[in-house]
Amino acid sequence: MHPRLAHDLAELPDALEATRLLATAVLDGLEERPVVPSVRPPEPVPLPAEGAGLRAALAEFAERWEPAFGASPGPRYLGFVTGGTTPAALAGDWLTAALDQNSNSSLDGTGQHLERQTVGWLRELFGLGTAHEGAFVSGATMSNTVGLAIAREWLGERRGVSVAEAGAAALGPVRVLSGSPHSSVAKALSMLGMGRGALVPVATLPGREAVDPAALEEALERADGPCVVVANAGTVNTVDFDDLRAVAALKERHDFWLHVDAAFGAFAALSPRHAHLVVGLDAADSVCVDLHKWLNVPYDSAVQFTRRRDLQARVFQNAAAYLGPLGATPDLVHLTPENSRRLRALAAWFTLRAYGRDGHRDIVERCTDCAHALGEAVDATPGLRLLAPVRLNVVCFTLAEDPTPERLAAFAESLADEVFLTPTVYAGVPALRAAFSNWRTTGADVRRIAARLGEHV
Ligand SMILES: *Cc1c(COP(=O)(O)O)cnc(C)c1O
Repeated sequence: MHPRLAHDLAELPDALEATRLLATAVLDGLEERPVVPSVRPPEPVPLPAEGAGLRAALAEFAERWEPAFGASPGPRYLGFVTGGTTPAALAGDWLTAALDQNSNSSLDGTGQHLERQTVGWLRELFGLGTAHEGAFVSGATMSNTVGLAIAREWLGERRGVSVAEAGAAALGPVRVLSGSPHSSVAKALSMLGMGRGALVPVATLPGREAVDPAALEEALERADGPCVVVANAGTVNTVDFDDLRAVAALKERHDFWLHVDAAFGAFAALSPRHAHLVVGLDAADSVCVDLHKWLNVPYDSAVQFTRRRDLQARVFQNAAAYLGPLGATPDLVHLTPENSRRLRALAAWFTLRAYGRDGHRDIVERCTDCAHALGEAVDATPGLRLLAPVRLNVVCFTLAEDPTPERLAAFAESLADEVFLTPTVYAGVPALRAAFSNWRTTGADVRRIAARLGEHV
């Protein structure tokens, strides 16, 4: 064994303790740390020919790199839809690395067992029935990709071709209808050989991002044959929801695969105050839910549900002499794009075991309370203007006068030590978004942010 490795092995407990101290210092400092630091990342250096050992690597990281990272797990990092890491999720993720499992096959099956148990809990959390099977993937983009890959195979089934065998070209033209799809849907269609051009925009309701069900029905009539509908349960700008029941009801008259992108909107199901937004989710043929957002597990984690695991296995099966046949319960290696995969489910298992449905419902409700409070503060601030009502956990707002992207960027930068906001364009107007999905955020954070908004506008 290389002497550096032998040395680190011998002092592993102490070295891990030092690592724990750094991690704890980072977490303890989240309140004071600039949300977006002004420290620049270090310049690249050549590959070390001789290693320095874990302690030296830790010291160098702590000195040169760690200060350049933003407070992404902290309470006022409100860009994108970011989420944080609950204490139990962090513990689960540490143990994931310590156990270093490749949890994809029944040849060494404990990881798969834990993943299936966790998927079962998640299914219940989101109000899905047992007809939905699920698997972990790395994020909502991959979850949408897997859902649309199954949809593609289903279209093939309808047209009498096996896309998995004959390729996407054998399928012929494809239409994917959607009101306000997330950008990752177009990316998924590009990856899957269906093409970004397959996406057919459908009119939304007046002043809304939710699809107009009547316009969707007309588009289905024009499509003249089986197609794919992507329904959106939580758009990123205004967190609008398609009426999933109305969309699913169209299946009585039209033949389509219903994929629902509920990346963070699915968490509405946890709260009696918001659950009406996702009524009908169970009728989907495939569902995308991100976990590194509102479940507050670390990157990277999402779940993909489908009613047609048989088609999923047709797409993703990995025929190898050393892997077993598909059988009634295919190994996970046959269900997702990855072959080898980390025990991603463990962080989710930990946080669900530690805090349960009630704890996670509390996170969701506190985030939506915070979003409403910030929305009211924006409304009351001269010089700012809400662009949409706060429906769940996002505040979409802009400058009342001359909201150019440059002025908005300068405004966001003037706040960046206190709060991280990300730019957007909504209904043609450049804007900023504040998305609440972190378990640490409280009303006190909202008051801090609101005060700064007033000072800087
Ligand atoms: C975040 C998000 C995605 C993409 O998620 P990643 O985890 O970044 O891959 C897809 N759809 C919606 C609605 C999202 O909010």
